[in-house]
Amino acid sequence: MTTTDLLANLNPQQQRAVTTVTGPVLVLAGPGSGKTRVLTHRIAYLIDEVGVDPLQILAVTFTNKAAREMRERLMALLGEAIAHDLTVGTFHSICARWLRRDIVHLGRERDFVIYDTDDQERLLKRVLRELNLNEKQHLPRAILSAISHAKNELVDPEEFARHARTYFDEIVARCYARYQALLYESNALDFDDLLGETVRLFSNYPAVLAEYHQRYRFLLVDEYQDTNRAQYLLVRALAERDRNLFVVGDEAQSIYAWRGADIRNILQFEHDYPDATVIMLEQNYRSTQAILDAAQALINASPQRKYAKRLWTTNGTGDQVVLYEAANDEDEAAFAVSEIMRLIAEGTARPGDCAIMYRMNAQSRLVEEALIQSHLPYQVIGGVRFYERKEVKDVLAYLRLVANPYDSVSLQRVINWPGRGIGERTVNELLVWATRLGVPLYQALSELADETTEYPFAARARNALLDFYRLIGEFHSLRQRMPLGELIDYLLMRIEAQATLYQEYEAEEAEDRWRNVQELRNAAINYANLPIEHQLAAFLEDIALVADTDTLDRNNDVVTCITLHQAKGLEFPYVFVLGVEEGLLPHSRSTNDRNQLEEERRLLYVGMTRAQRRLYLSYAAQRAMFGRVTVCSRSRFLADIPPTSLKLLRRRGYRAVTVSQTTMFNQRMLTPDHHDKRTTPLPLPRQAAFVPGQRVYHATFGEGIVVSSRLIEGDEEVTVRFADRERRLLASFARLQPL
Ligand code: ATP
Ligand code: MG
Repeated sequence: MTTTDLLANLNPQQQRAVTTVTGPVLVLAGPGSGKTRVLTHRIAYLIDEVGVDPLQILAVTFTNKAAREMRERLMALLGEAIAHDLTVGTFHSICARWLRRDIVHLGRERDFVIYDTDDQERLLKRVLRELNLNEKQHLPRAILSAISHAKNELVDPEEFARHARTYFDEIVARCYARYQALLYESNALDFDDLLGETVRLFSNYPAVLAEYHQRYRFLLVDEYQDTNRAQYLLVRALAERDRNLFVVGDEAQSIYAWRGADIRNILQFEHDYPDATVIMLEQNYRSTQAILDAAQALINASPQRKYAKRLWTTNGTGDQVVLYEAANDEDEAAFAVSEIMRLIAEGTARPGDCAIMYRMNAQSRLVEEALIQSHLPYQVIGGVRFYERKEVKDVLAYLRLVANPYDSVSLQRVINWPGRGIGERTVNELLVWATRLGVPLYQALSELADETTEYPFAARARNALLDFYRLIGEFHSLRQRMPLGELIDYLLMRIEAQATLYQEYEAEEAEDRWRNVQELRNAAINYANLPIEHQLAAFLEDIALVADTDTLDRNNDVVTCITLHQAKGLEFPYVFVLGVEEGLLPHSRSTNDRNQLEEERRLLYVGMTRAQRRLYLSYAAQRAMFGRVTVCSRSRFLADIPPTSLKLLRRRGYRAVTVSQTTMFNQRMLTPDHHDKRTTPLPLPRQAAFVPGQRVYHATFGEGIVVSSRLIEGDEEVTVRFADRERRLLASFARLQPL
């Protein structure tokens, strides 16, 4: 594309944002006004017109999905070769890459592993046990969230302890210190550390920072309204020398305060950089006027709104926003899916044009069921992730150990998988012993090889532990010589993964799980052309940083199911926002706090403004949540949208049914004719009798909590967590009683 073309596709304000090449620039503008487009075009302009070397450009965005889209847009503009030289990614992925290079300055090893939430929880549970704190009283998640908050504010354990005021704070302070020490010992970083350690690196080692100043001369940040303190400091440090900092954002779309994002960062930009050029964009290119009007009404009704912005568009009025009042949550999902089917049958839409959005991941289950029944291809972004499946995590734990044997969380995970006679008692003894020695588990194991060491294990346990130790040692020594794919094959063969899965699960499920493991093996192929010694590290790094399943699914023409948080920055011709009701949007947690309440409003605003051609909002009169059916009312936010902007649809022929908790699910109220004009008949959904979170009782196993449930041929398979472990049961045999 020539420069004239590049600029011809932009309006005058956008052109100004692209061509103001030096100094700080802030673009402050509403959704769909072309902020991200300006950002990508500016990169193209810098390279083509100003002659900047692509290696000197750094572009940061927020989610993996957004980063991928940005990369695609850049490839289209610049071609693959040039786009390849750019540094484009999320804050986390970029920091991880830099730390691989430079973390040694902080006295740490380059081959650190990145712990995800699951690993973090395991580690924290170990901390709680060590500190004799009860998990039920001191919820790991609450503590982790407090630690995460502290890290995002760059508060270290000592400082946290100094400022602890409440009993909870004191507990967190103790956990935080030990948690951090164990992370260090395991040569691991959690997600927040990726940012925090990079900030520390830059502020403590000016010479290192100077190298980055030399390398990156042009900085561009998308979604700047959602930066937290650590990210803010990072950007400030990087931009300090050349000050070629270009940020775009929209304070009305700030939705990450709960993760420490600070809306003030964007509002203070002009204060931090008094010489900043500030550019506003007002034309919306994404949506129809009808969609914009509804969204603007919602956001302008916010009491926190300082000045109302008016977005306009030449896209035409378009169809009215549909507000669907569903009988219940299942009807709601069925409506969205049948509407998508209708659009496809009419030839108006393809599956890939449609997105179904919701507040909480758990809401995707009904949607998925409806999609499956309609045979529509779909992807779930940020749902139960491929990489979070047990068998995948188990194999990954081995690979992580191969890369870094000091990773104690991974070691603990697979020390007895496949079963090798290392019981829980032995593992606990090992933990205690390693803590007493003050060494990582792997090193404690190595002590066992020494005949003279005094250890607390019986001979059998010692031998089993030693075998495991040698096995990991063997894999570890192969990693520099064996290509990744072969290494994985060898490892799977050595641990007899396939046979183990077939022992642990019934044939059909074992096959499913084995296929997932194979899929992991397939993903390794992408690393075949790297030097052997880098393959494993690169593979693990990418895995640690993907936040969604769809990396494995290259088929793009599928319906997207996505949370509102993940949908930021994206756009789809047809958007369905589900669950616009009290308790969900705003979320019940948020209703007592004005700031949180307004963040919920912005979240709905973000969702609505993703729509290009048509927007559907819906809420259900009844919803099964946490194991019980609740009567719901429409969201208070809907009252801020003038009724004239909405077209209200109700289910036709709906009969009010008095429901008791348990019969509700069996009395499906959908009748095939419940939507007019439907061209594709909707299959009658069957509904699971058990829902996640529900408390149940089993005659032998006692009380438990339903983890998941799925319909299988003629029956329902329920996974229940009992006091001792999880079990999969068939509902018809297990005679589970709801409590
Ligand atoms: P959000 O705040 O939701 O992230 P945004 O401001 O980043 O929105 P973009 O995603 O950059 O908006 O643009 C929205 C849509 O409008 C995109 O499809 C983009 O290609 C298109 N667009 C933006 N500016 C123009 C223009 N000048 N001419 C034609 N299309 C445009
Ligand atoms: Mg954008």
